Amino acid sequence: MRLVFLGAPGVGKGTQADRVTAQFGWPKISTGDLLREAVRNQTSLGLEAKKSMDAGKLVPDIVVINMVRSKLDEPLCQRGFILDGFPRTVPQAEELNRMLSDGGIKLDRVINFRVSRHDIVARLSGRRSCSNCQSVFHLDFAPPNVSGQCDRCGGALVQRNDDKPETIEARLKVYDEQTAPLIAYYDAKQMVSHLDGSGDMTQVSERLVSVLRGLGAA
Ligand code: AMP
Repeated sequence: MRLVFLGAPGVGKGTQADRVTAQFGWPKISTGDLLREAVRNQTSLGLEAKKSMDAGKLVPDIVVINMVRSKLDEPLCQRGFILDGFPRTVPQAEELNRMLSDGGIKLDRVINFRVSRHDIVARLSGRRSCSNCQSVFHLDFAPPNVSGQCDRCGGALVQRNDDKPETIEARLKVYDEQTAPLIAYYDAKQMVSHLDGSGDMTQVSERLVSVLRGLGAA
């Protein structure tokens, strides 16, 4: 199945995409993860993107479009994929349509995760990730067994620069202005399933899996 996970930062798209990948096997393509990897590796693209990311702004469309294009070309993505955090602007969505139709394929569905603003801020501000293996935790909702330490590899848990309070506000503004219009864009094509993203991750997973089964996922 070819899916787009849409929603504001902090709605849980990435966590749910990981769970769907584990259950159904479609790989997750997260432009945020790819960009953070480029930043860690200090590539020229990463160093350039870091400025926008730390400020809570979007990196230029062309940068993420090229990243996604090369991922979609990989054999692993031929059976399906989950796009997490892409597209984030209408031009990115249009370019995605072109990329897919050039390959003779199309998206199956856009899942729009809905969570209250209050919950989003709580989820983002408590999020911590492992500086070594990038596993994600939450101080209240998914705390590590030992404070400040990754359960999987023992690495130090850190807060993402863009999860600091002032940047959270900037990211939500960018979402409202540039990404939220994609809901109407895909709604007009009757491609959207709206999903209640509130509650714990198991509850959200159950709702999501039932939507995916309704779409024919086995
Ligand atoms: P995320 O992990 O999806 O919240 O992404 C983290 C940051 O990476 C965003 O705040 C943007 O700066 C950048 N980013 C990720 N995906 C995109 C995208 N599709 N278009 C532009 N910038 C992106």
